[in-house]
Amino acid sequence: MEEIALYIHIPFCKQKCFYCDFPSFCSMENLMDSYIEVLDKEIENIKNNKIKTIFIGGGTPTYLNSKALKRLGESIGKLDLKYCEEFTIEGNPGTFTEEKLKIIKNMGVNRLSIGLQASQDELLKKIGRIHNYKDFINSYNMARDIGFNNINIDVIFGLPRQTNKMWKETLEKLIKLAPEHLSCYSLILEEGTAFYKMYSDKDLPDEDSIIEMYETAKKMLKENSYYQYEISNFSKKGYQCKHNMVYWNLENYIGIGSSSHSYYKGKRYKNEPNVKKYIEKMKKCNNAIVENLQNTLNDNMEEFVFLGLRKIRGIYIKEFEERFQKDIYSVYGEVIKKHKENNLLIESEGRLYLSSRGIEISNYVLSDFII
Ligand code: SF4
Repeated sequence: MEEIALYIHIPFCKQKCFYCDFPSFCSMENLMDSYIEVLDKEIENIKNNKIKTIFIGGGTPTYLNSKALKRLGESIGKLDLKYCEEFTIEGNPGTFTEEKLKIIKNMGVNRLSIGLQASQDELLKKIGRIHNYKDFINSYNMARDIGFNNINIDVIFGLPRQTNKMWKETLEKLIKLAPEHLSCYSLILEEGTAFYKMYSDKDLPDEDSIIEMYETAKKMLKENSYYQYEISNFSKKGYQCKHNMVYWNLENYIGIGSSSHSYYKGKRYKNEPNVKKYIEKMKKCNNAIVENLQNTLNDNMEEFVFLGLRKIRGIYIKEFEERFQKDIYSVYGEVIKKHKENNLLIESEGRLYLSSRGIEISNYVLSDFII
């Protein structure tokens, strides 16, 4: 039995946020029931694994109607969850009801991840969110009342005309609420999104302002006992996201649902991204995999370093050697030397990790590890 993290993709959203390039869709509510039906088949297919964590993401899983959520809970209930340490569902304010939260709790979910993004209503409107700050507070309080004691909140900095003062205000409000976990992402203007057409670089905070916002988050969160364990992720002690750690540690995970990805025994799989086609394929062939690639040794080494250096503790040099039967310096000697000399990478106590400056320009540093 392989130990895995299980990701379940729910592609439905009430409205598409302007900045979003995730595989999520609005106006597809008519497909919800059949989607959940075929997910049941895919869940059945992976039941012989030792499930360590579950993450239901999207899209907006809490946008599923109560009947569909219950049905999904029944499918998951058929899995052996005795090894499951963490079970997360993502949701958005405005799609929660008390009834849905109770269904979710009964499914065994013990971690909630709520997308807020900012505390200013005008900013939320500007980025196409369906909720205001008050909706978020109502959802958060409802979740606490129902007994969720491990909550993550997603926020974004670098939004159009967002100032450091506004960002501070968002963080201050959240620190007062004291969620167990905060994910602070920097906005990326992705081609193909509504944002890309609406805004240009001049509407967005410049690089120095982005760095200032990031530094603000690091300082404020540290002062309030949030420990940074990944470039964008902060948690109270003992509340790191176990599921995401599986990705950054390059361990086995299986993704089910449309567009989902898997990494399993050194192979990468991808499911059909088109929701309708995904349902058809599952109904017809009980399989929706459209890509199936064997990772080469180089792929595995790259991914181990690329993902591993996202963690603040970095990677263990010995672990690299044990996994790949190679000395890390024989593969990356030059790159490591260069970034250590430029104070972007630090080696200490058998670990390699990014310095503060290295984190700020992590895209540049990490891309150097592509073989
Ligand atoms: S709710 Fe999340 S997945 Fe849906 S459109 Fe907005 S950002 Fe994308």
